Amino acid sequence: MSRAQVLEEIRQEILVCPKCALCKSRTTAVPGTGSLNADIFFIGEAPGQQEDLKGEPFVGSAGKLLDSLLKMIGIKREEIFITNIVKCRPPGNRDPRPDEISSCNPYLVSQIALIEPIFICTLGRFAMQTMIDPDMSITRDHGVPVRRSGVIYFPMYHPAAALYRGELKELMKEDMLRLKALIDSEKEK
Ligand code: SF4
Repeated sequence: MSRAQVLEEIRQEILVCPKCALCKSRTTAVPGTGSLNADIFFIGEAPGQQEDLKGEPFVGSAGKLLDSLLKMIGIKREEIFITNIVKCRPPGNRDPRPDEISSCNPYLVSQIALIEPIFICTLGRFAMQTMIDPDMSITRDHGVPVRRSGVIYFPMYHPAAALYRGELKELMKEDMLRLKALIDSEKEK
């Protein structure tokens, strides 16, 4: 089976997944989208209302902000892979629960193992603490890369938070430029 077929198989499995309670309230599961050959893998918390309706990650205002930040450093959405910690929307956008995260985690692990990104960029506190370290603080640790098992984790604010707090947008721009510098320095190695 080709890598593309494996990715599609994971997607199909997520679309009909009954493994946690979020399957009952979702409209559509949101498996994630992007390139099979992505060097950069973005992870948010969970689908929001627009994503739940469309089945695509980061399609609302937060997604547009993310796209503009990516454009600033010369990266198109199609070049990255983007998904969430959990693939179905928690009702009322509440935080995903530990049992929901552990039920969903094998999908994320499979996607990462298949794509083998160089960078894993977490968007927001929740994804950062789940993927890197539960004791991390987004205020303190955003924009600081963490190298682990051959992967560079790069925590950033969530673009949805930056929509409501202009100062976070500036911090996100600075972090995006740091990410670009890191990408360039990795390419030179
Ligand atoms: S959140 Fe994940 S584990 Fe839960 S139903 Fe959706 S795809 Fe399945």
